Amino acid sequence: MLNADLDRRCLKRRIVWQLIAWTVFISILLVWSMWSVNEEVFTLARKEALANFNKDQAFRAWATGHGGVYVPMTEDTLPSPYLSHIAERDITTASGKKLTLMNPAYMLRQMMDLYDELYGVKGRITSLNPLNPNNAPDAWERSALLSFEEGSTEAYEITKIDGEPYIRLMRPMVTAAGCLKCHAHQGYTVGSIRGGVGVSVPLESYTEMADRRKNILWTILSVIWGLGLGVVGLGGRRSLQRIEERLDYEKHIWHQANYDWLTQLPNRNLFHERLERGLTLVRRDKRQLALIYIDLDRFKDVNDTLGHHAGDMLLQEAAQRLTTCVRAVDTVSRLGGDEFAVILTSLPDNMAVKRSATKILEMLKKPFIVDGSEVHVSASIGITFYPEDGKDSESLLKNADTAMYQAKEMGRNTYRYFTQEMNQEAQRRVDLENALRGAVDRGEFALHYQPIIDIKSGALVGAEALMRWTNPEYADVGPDQFIRVAEVSGLIFPIGDWVLGQAINDFNRWQADGLLLDRLAINVSSLQFKSPAFHRILQDKLTEQPSLNHHLCLEITESLFLDDEGEVTNQMAALRHKGITLSIDDFGTGYSSLGYLKRFPVDSIKIDRTFVRDVITDPEDAALCEAIIAMAHHLKLKVVAEGVEDQQQLDCLNEWGCDSAQGYLFGQPVPADQFFQNMKMRLCS
Ligand code: C2E
Ligand code: CA
Ligand code: CA
Repeated sequence: MLNADLDRRCLKRRIVWQLIAWTVFISILLVWSMWSVNEEVFTLARKEALANFNKDQAFRAWATGHGGVYVPMTEDTLPSPYLSHIAERDITTASGKKLTLMNPAYMLRQMMDLYDELYGVKGRITSLNPLNPNNAPDAWERSALLSFEEGSTEAYEITKIDGEPYIRLMRPMVTAAGCLKCHAHQGYTVGSIRGGVGVSVPLESYTEMADRRKNILWTILSVIWGLGLGVVGLGGRRSLQRIEERLDYEKHIWHQANYDWLTQLPNRNLFHERLERGLTLVRRDKRQLALIYIDLDRFKDVNDTLGHHAGDMLLQEAAQRLTTCVRAVDTVSRLGGDEFAVILTSLPDNMAVKRSATKILEMLKKPFIVDGSEVHVSASIGITFYPEDGKDSESLLKNADTAMYQAKEMGRNTYRYFTQEMNQEAQRRVDLENALRGAVDRGEFALHYQPIIDIKSGALVGAEALMRWTNPEYADVGPDQFIRVAEVSGLIFPIGDWVLGQAINDFNRWQADGLLLDRLAINVSSLQFKSPAFHRILQDKLTEQPSLNHHLCLEITESLFLDDEGEVTNQMAALRHKGITLSIDDFGTGYSSLGYLKRFPVDSIKIDRTFVRDVITDPEDAALCEAIIAMAHHLKLKVVAEGVEDQQQLDCLNEWGCDSAQGYLFGQPVPADQFFQNMKMRLCS
């Protein structure tokens, strides 16, 4: 996972946590504020209740201090039955007015009723031991009175009276000296708690005030909460934006590091990563994995003839086609150049790989339209399986490459499963290269010569120098094989130089001994021809021996022309200018583009021995040989037929007008001295 991806997740989590923390903080603040408002309002209400209580107390103290108050006796104010034990309860004034004693509690109750009527503030006197049964306590009052006896000095509660909210406050009623007049008979003494005086104040105005305040607080905190959310959200969004930008950049870099810029397929890097991951999975599940290694055939020709832009377009199209040959779970990647690979991790059946390989071959065989021209390529495929052909990615890939190489050897446009024998073959190539290196150091080479005969006259016109490896251990390794290895390893340069020097030496020796050959044909590999050192050495030889130029014939192959940007043409022209002749070897087997014959300055072509071999039995080969000869003559080129083994072949070639021939019919390639002897004998006979 990308760093920025991780950061993005962390940031998102952080933002969520910040929002939650902010919301929790504001919620706590809200709850605390609401509680504070309640507390404050309750304190105010309590104070009002207390003020009322205090006023009652003062009034009662006043009344008690006077030992009660005489009031006129009316229908409403009759003598109190609870004071009947007092002698002077009822008195008559001098004018005959009847007065009755009113004790403080009685007065107070009347006061309280009035107060309730006028202001809604209710008062109450109660006692655990009431004189008047109306003063008996309710449940809350009882528990408050009991708490007073245990030392408590105040009790209050919020309650509902007649459905309205009230705060109820109660404090103890302490017996004063004045009280004993009425209550001494109940056993009270000064200071003893006789009951409680309670005040109930309506809370409605307070709750309204509290609600108002709460609404304001709620609004303010909501705005602050919203602002906080905005700050966190905006800040988070900006950070997120920055991370997104970084993520885009990281993704871009990652893509560049893991995908091929041209085809947008996974590159070698990602391919290895996926292969490793695939191997881990199949190892765990004890399953099979297949690797398909694909190399386009003759892709280099496209690049060389149509240009790199065309090559790029072809690769893009090929990549596109490859992805249609496999399932979405499989990885198609471009390993580089014209090499692709497919990883098949979950194989549904044994035939799945064969099906994919066949489909790939079919798809790549279809013509490509590049820059308006139709181009044909094909593919060679090597296949390996895990675990049979390799336990790790390295060996699987290496062996798939080996199998692909075999497919190429088999003539391209085919697939090959890897076998251990192939590995041995690949090892053999490496061994051969090492041995060849030693052979160069030890000079284990010789040249054999084969005569070239003029078909019309039967006269000897020249000889072709053919290399041999003299080490008996490698007696069965022909130049066909070791020249290819020499080319791959770069050993062709010292070997080619040696051939040139040795052939000229032999030629000179024969000349000194009286055998003057018209033509000395030397095979020159394309790599060698393109090296400036070869031309320098050749020039040195010509300077040393100016007459040589009219006898030298260099046999080159069409591969030399493939990627020429004018250099090869110039060198060829320069050689011809010096009198050296140039011949296209193995004509018919390679690219055989007629365009080359026109474009490149050559003197002759050599029809490959595989065509000559079957001219008698295969009408197609016969037609081909005849056509090649006619066409070459048309272009004013001489034709040499290789591999002529019998008279019938020679007769045919003669009939078609072929100029000269070479083959076992006239002599096998033999060492220089023997060649000299053979030719001397031939000339004498
Ligand atoms: P090439 O240049 O086409 O050489 C002709 C090949 O045909 C030689 O094979 C020769 O022995 C063989 N040959 C000649 N007459 C007959 C015949 O009647 N029947 C059959 N079946 N074969 C015949 P050789 O000597 O094995 O050489 C193979 C190839 O190795 C040559 O093919 C050439 O491409 C390469 N080569 C040989 N010597 C050199 C060299 O000094 N330099 C370079 N660059 N390549 C060389
Ligand atoms: Ca040749
Ligand atoms: Ca040849």
